[in-house]
Amino acid sequence: MVQSSVLGFPRIGANRELKKTTEAYWQGKVSVEELFKVGKEIREHNWKLQKQAGVDVIASNDFSFYDQVLDLSLLFNAIPERYAKYNLSPIDTFFAMGRGLQKKATETEAAVDVTALEMVKWFDSNYHYVRPTFSHSTQFKLNGQKPVDEFLEAKALGIQTRPVLVGPLSYLTLGKADKDSLDLEPLSLLEKLLPVYAEILKKLADAGATSVQLDEPVLVLDLDEKTQAAFKTAYDFLASQSGLPAITLATYFGTVVPNLGAIKDLPVAGFHFDFARNPEQLDEVASILNDNQTLSVGVVDGRNIWKNDFAKSSAIVQKAIEKVGKDRVVVATSSSLLHTPVDLESEKKLNPEIKDWFSFATQKLAEVAVIAKNVSGEDVSAELEANAKSVSTRASSNITNNEAVQKRVQSIDEKMSRRLSPFPERLAVQEKAFKLPLFPTTTIGSFPQTKDIRINRNKFVKGTITAEEYEKFINAEIETVIRFQEEIGIDILVHGEPERNDMVQYFGEQIDGYTFTTNGWVQSYGSRYVRPPIIVGDLSRPKPMSVKESVYAQSITTKPCKGMLTGPVTCLRWSFPRDDVDQKTQALQLALALRDEVNDLDAAGIKIIQVDEPALREGLPLRAGQDRSDYLKWAAESFRIATSGVGNETQIHSHFCYSDLDPNHIKALDADVVSIEYSKKDDPKYISEFLDYPNHIGLGLFDIHSPRIPSTEEFKAKIEKILESYPAEKFWVNPDCGLKTRGWAETKESLTHMVEAAKFFREKY
Ligand code: GLN
Ligand code: ZN
Repeated sequence: MVQSSVLGFPRIGANRELKKTTEAYWQGKVSVEELFKVGKEIREHNWKLQKQAGVDVIASNDFSFYDQVLDLSLLFNAIPERYAKYNLSPIDTFFAMGRGLQKKATETEAAVDVTALEMVKWFDSNYHYVRPTFSHSTQFKLNGQKPVDEFLEAKALGIQTRPVLVGPLSYLTLGKADKDSLDLEPLSLLEKLLPVYAEILKKLADAGATSVQLDEPVLVLDLDEKTQAAFKTAYDFLASQSGLPAITLATYFGTVVPNLGAIKDLPVAGFHFDFARNPEQLDEVASILNDNQTLSVGVVDGRNIWKNDFAKSSAIVQKAIEKVGKDRVVVATSSSLLHTPVDLESEKKLNPEIKDWFSFATQKLAEVAVIAKNVSGEDVSAELEANAKSVSTRASSNITNNEAVQKRVQSIDEKMSRRLSPFPERLAVQEKAFKLPLFPTTTIGSFPQTKDIRINRNKFVKGTITAEEYEKFINAEIETVIRFQEEIGIDILVHGEPERNDMVQYFGEQIDGYTFTTNGWVQSYGSRYVRPPIIVGDLSRPKPMSVKESVYAQSITTKPCKGMLTGPVTCLRWSFPRDDVDQKTQALQLALALRDEVNDLDAAGIKIIQVDEPALREGLPLRAGQDRSDYLKWAAESFRIATSGVGNETQIHSHFCYSDLDPNHIKALDADVVSIEYSKKDDPKYISEFLDYPNHIGLGLFDIHSPRIPSTEEFKAKIEKILESYPAEKFWVNPDCGLKTRGWAETKESLTHMVEAAKFFREKY
């Protein structure tokens, strides 16, 4: 019998229990015991669910209160001194590293004031991990035994699990040197780290674990020779230790073929590969297996919501069986299911025709089990038949096709993606029009999404308040935000985005060809979850989406107020895309819809328009090559199509965050002003990369993911530092990103300090 395996399950709970409890814990409203209890309940629920679905190999340690990479940093004691020095409890140290901590002194405890570690996108997904941060003083040692505890929890339920940990090479490669140790090469720590890996694996074995899953997703990236060679060092070392569980080395999100040399001859019990994304790698990866190694065949996609095509997947698995034999093949999800919503059954409002095309994490469990049965020769004909029917209905449905949109995409010409004049000419016109001071201040768009806003939005959605009442409420919120910005002297205002549930969902709900869920939450980082809209058909905008709010905001102030949109690539990347049409086509369709919106805003008198593309970087194909250059071309083209329908006097802004942005990626967008996340970039070299970026930049001056308030002096010091290498004429002053997750109190203080610092330099220059 071919086994079935799931690499990880969403840990947020069926009804976002994890978020609710974690945030309550942060606010001091629930105890640490309650927090741990909820975590345990979620884990137990998930394991039982998988058992019931007939999954043979179930993961443990896929749970985390914040992030699975941060879990390892805590476990291995990779805790920078600035956190360790406070002697907080392990869970509070963990949260402090994940989100920063600022606490006033009490009679019994000293004050705490520390920023979060850097947060980075997890490969090309919209999940973010907390970057391991090493210094010369990092002393790896076991600090707790979370994987063992969770393994034992499952065992107590009678469920034998396979613990999962990020593997040593991925853990180090995804990390960085701390600011006090910039010469440190994370990979040089491998020798010190390996014994600690061996120690935790040994403990797992002692607890009864017979196998573990070590995730080495860096194998789908371009790796230098040193890193490739280090795989042998690491896995030889682990193999030389006695009494460890069998290791399955898991890779996902791409092909490992260019790195085959790194994993050939590794002494592991088996490998897992992502065949949902790269089925073509089968021949080559199968050829490196020795006669005993198992091949875990990832065919049920952990990254999307489309129902699996059983016939297609079974054929891939069959091919694997032909190569290595039934006994050594495992049918698996392509990656952890962390990136998919928990359960399709909780969707009560989806059009039944569309719902039949979807499969969320819970449904994917059954898919893995059915495919495993099918290739084992068991009779699953009823399931196969129903599946084939869903697949063909979707392919032929007219929900997916809109001829007018397809025609419009075909008629795109080069002129549509070019601004009227080059940047210097636009700048001259804009300078005259806006008369901005040096160091212009602005924000990225959203202001605190308060409870009151959520309550009123819910009332409106449920119909307990009328559209007029809701509009009145939103206008009052906009007014509050405008008055506050005027009061502290911000130069370019925003309306605060109170009407938006989410920057993509809000637009998705107004674009034809999208559908959305009521409970389809997916973890983005920490306690922040998103509900990605789903692209099901050709995309078009029936009517203006944001003009009303922007026009209202501009009508109550004499200062310029930015219109605020989400760019085509971000709309695409933060949605679940179609898998039957290429991404470029979907981006161009979105670009046209947004072009209409930009033009409408412009015509309504909104002369500064920001089109956010925070997802631009994450869409970049993971490896250098043709795919990557093609992507950069169509991504930039989409942005320019969206923003080039306006005259020279209209100032186009864009915004990027969450990632190591390469200035070359944004040049081709030709936005007049861009704001980028910067506050946690410690490497002084990073800024110099932007020196020859021709247009204006706002380097984010404070971390909006943390409630911590920087002082005016801190802002001044930051600006001073940047000015050492960056020219004042191109220097905008803004936070890292939108303020929607922040409270008003800290927002007010932080922004006031930021503006004070900008004014200080304005006088100096
Ligand atoms: N305009 C958005 C906001 O401020 C941008 C958010 C983002 O980049 N993630 O919320
Ligand atoms: Zn942002």
